[in-house]
Amino acid sequence: MHLDPFELHRPTSVDETVRLAGELAGRFDYLAGGTDLLPNYKMHINLRPHLVALEDVGELAGHSEGRLGAMCRLADLERDRDLAATWPALGEAVAEVATPLVRASGTVGGNLLVETRCFFFNQSYFWRASLGFCLKADGDRCHVVPQKETCYATFSGDLAPALLVADAEVEVAGAGGRRRMPLGELYDLAGDGIRRVRLAPGELLVAVHLPAAARGRQGRYLKLRVRPAYDFPELGVAVAGRWQPDGRVRELRLAVGGAEPHPRRFDELTAPLDGERLDDARRRELGEEVARRVRPVHNTFLLPDYRRKMIAVYVRRALADAEARAAG
Ligand SMILES: Cc1cc2nc3c(=O)[nH]c(=O)nc-3n(C[C@H](O)[C@H](O)[C@H](O)COP(=O)(O)OP(=O)(O)OC[C@H]3O[C@@H](n4cnc5c(N)ncnc54)[C@H](O)[C@@H]3O)c2cc1C
Ligand code: SF4
Repeated sequence: MHLDPFELHRPTSVDETVRLAGELAGRFDYLAGGTDLLPNYKMHINLRPHLVALEDVGELAGHSEGRLGAMCRLADLERDRDLAATWPALGEAVAEVATPLVRASGTVGGNLLVETRCFFFNQSYFWRASLGFCLKADGDRCHVVPQKETCYATFSGDLAPALLVADAEVEVAGAGGRRRMPLGELYDLAGDGIRRVRLAPGELLVAVHLPAAARGRQGRYLKLRVRPAYDFPELGVAVAGRWQPDGRVRELRLAVGGAEPHPRRFDELTAPLDGERLDDARRRELGEEVARRVRPVHNTFLLPDYRRKMIAVYVRRALADAEARAAG
């Protein structure tokens, strides 16, 4: 496998980046840490002739308790113990991404916009060619659900569920200026594994904002994967909430990633629990209801039935752990 030639651009400001994006419309990708994009390029997946490197755009760098620059490296977040104390699920999710080497280069923006994955997609050009390719790259059918013209590739980023339960917002910049939206609105729940985010062509992710009102919630992130030192999530469950001394829970949030083409939060199930004490039966009930609503397909290593059963188990465990931590 080799990298085909491309032209590299190195803008130094958000305005210059957005301008370049307009000039190169449809012919470029943004390059952050490159840990997802470049392996895909080596497999000749959706190549573009131009790459716009974000490394020199100063505004995208760095992080504070309330703001994560899009180019903030995961290893820098992992080292920040105060951040992990304030946002427990985020601290755990960051430390679970890939390997230390990947985290040294991988960024927050790249993680939120990581390409969706599928057993039939993350393969070499020749492997894919032998099957006649697929909808997501170079082909016209899906090998997972052949009767549909939809892509079921799985969103496999670890940070998104943890940031969803922190009520995070994303700031993006494009030809139409800047805008902010809840992270949940970045992902297109009506889309599929190809049309997975609600960004206009060329729109740049600038930063993630963590609201002060959500600080100090207790939380937990649990990840299911085959090789614990290395693999993408086959499932990621994040929870956050405030447990009062009498055991009643407030502001409960629950999000699932690694199971469908987009990560998602389950406010319709958690909002009615506000002010309740969650015993084991209630946690089990909630976990089973979440599992009923999530539909993994057979496009990753573990079987969908198993992943779905593990949703119920992980929801129950994550809630119990978070409550135990809150109780000190
Ligand atoms: C061996 C291996 C294991 C991995 N395991 C995991 C894992 O367990 N969990 C996990 O979450 N990920 C995993 N990854 C995927 C990846 O390394 C991480 O998700 C990483 O955070 C991606 O960040 P990056 O900066 O390298 O993204 P890049 O590869 O640079 O970019 C990813 C995508 O996002 C776009 N993009 C990046 N930044 C911006 C921006 N600011 N605005 C607009 N678009 C942008 C790029 O154009 C590209 O499409 C793994 C990768 C490898 C190689
Ligand atoms: S789900 Fe189907 S269309 Fe999507 S990547 Fe897999 S095989 Fe291709």
